[in-house]
Amino acid sequence: PIFSRSLPLKCARFEMETKNDDVAEKPTFGFGEIEQGLADQMVHDALVWSSLHGLVVGDRNNKRSGKVPGVGLVHAPFALLPVSFPESHFREACELAPIFNELVDRVSLDGKFLQDSLARTKKVDAFTSRLLDIHSKMMEINKKDEIRLGLHRSDYMLDEQTKLLLQLELNTISSSFPGLSCLVSELHRSLLNHYGETLGLDPRRIPTNAAVSQYAEALAKAWIEFNNPKAAVLVVVQTEELNMYDQHWLSSVLRERHNVRSIRKTLAEINAEGELQPDGTLLVGGVPVAIIYFRAGYTPNDYPSELEWRARLLMEESSAIKCPSISYHLAGTKKIQQELAKPNVLERFLENKEHIAKVRKCFAGLWSLEDPDIVGKAIESPELFVMKPQREGGGNNIYGSDLREALLRLQHEGTEDNAAYILMQRIFPAISLTTLIRDGICYKDHAVSEIGVYSAYLRNKDNVIVNEQCGYLMRTKISSSNEGGVAAGFAVLDSLYLT
Ligand code: ADP
Ligand code: MG
Ligand code: MG
Repeated sequence: PIFSRSLPLKCARFEMETKNDDVAEKPTFGFGEIEQGLADQMVHDALVWSSLHGLVVGDRNNKRSGKVPGVGLVHAPFALLPVSFPESHFREACELAPIFNELVDRVSLDGKFLQDSLARTKKVDAFTSRLLDIHSKMMEINKKDEIRLGLHRSDYMLDEQTKLLLQLELNTISSSFPGLSCLVSELHRSLLNHYGETLGLDPRRIPTNAAVSQYAEALAKAWIEFNNPKAAVLVVVQTEELNMYDQHWLSSVLRERHNVRSIRKTLAEINAEGELQPDGTLLVGGVPVAIIYFRAGYTPNDYPSELEWRARLLMEESSAIKCPSISYHLAGTKKIQQELAKPNVLERFLENKEHIAKVRKCFAGLWSLEDPDIVGKAIESPELFVMKPQREGGGNNIYGSDLREALLRLQHEGTEDNAAYILMQRIFPAISLTTLIRDGICYKDHAVSEIGVYSAYLRNKDNVIVNEQCGYLMRTKISSSNEGGVAAGFAVLDSLYLT
């Protein structure tokens, strides 16, 4: 809904301030002006390109668009040009990917750490509590997943004042846009191939983005490890999904390039059609499942009844490779992020000193609400903090005066409810004037960007088979909006231009 604020306009001219002098040598979009006619032509070309290349989402205005593929498509919201981003920081984010993969895997193996860290949260957050119950059950039966697959996305903002790349969060479940992010990079490259010379921009400065191929390859390798040629990948989906084309891109590459079949089922369908064979094989509608790839199940809304929870438990009990397992899911919660930022905790999970230092460097300030000093500071200056519950999918965080009120209320009540949240230092990235396009309408506004780096991790009992960075997602949102989230309507897809 950020766009309701700014009026639709024909693409106005780019008039961006330039702060430092080397901009002339290394052009960024802070430099020149785009003549009106040219901008209009570029927007037109971009809209045609998106439609022809599947850079699309379901259209909110069409009732069937979330259910029936091929009905009610609209181009995904995007920025007209890539955002400039320092190459050194991009490299830093890429180098962190395999380290976070390993960290998640190590943390996931320490069931006691997960349970203890989330023990207070469990008492006050029903959703996290249900996840922990499944986790406890798996610990009780001593269930060990020897083949483990992680498809994560670590999100960062570049703090303008300190020039530090700071992690916002690490997504271990349902990391979205591996499909569409590649397409946005291609769209921008295509635009710069045509207009780059006029704009003084080099298409080669947009880094290759093979997220969808690399995710498909990791899934295919996991499928091979599972070693049942009849088995399929089960994609767990929501009952209505406007972002289905992003998911279909991945399934399509998996089928075309690796000959691995996907089936799409909701949690309710899995409950109805799923059964476990005596050897632990999960059958859904009679089809054996090699990998359970979650693109649902990360929010309480996905569990409207006990049936959905039954499905989640059934899947966890099975021998299928879960992406993510319940422990990987929990390792990606905000509470665990905050626990890992405490002194000497990373050292419990990582040995390599350089790796520890790199990870620590990207941690922003993270605090538990048990800390009265920090709560006092946040009440005094709420604009410097973000308050986060254990939720995913955007739109859940608390900012500004709401944050102050929430803290005062929690303080007053003096209950354990504060364990549902963490406090985080607010990051302030650089603001630049950007042209954003949604629903075929062009808007120009001040915006900030968030980079996500995809990563894949696969191991079996003896070896790590895959541990790599897998491309990126850039999202740009109007700077006056607190939240990101493309699907939630706060942000647009973007790519990066290395400077
Ligand atoms: P979710 O799992 O719901 O995506 P995030 O932690 O990514 O939760 O927060 C959602 C959005 O809120 C982010 O995309 C970002 O725009 C904004 N945000 C989150 N943390 C911070 C922070 N520390 N500083 C500034 N903005 C933040
Ligand atoms: Mg998240
Ligand atoms: Mg996020």
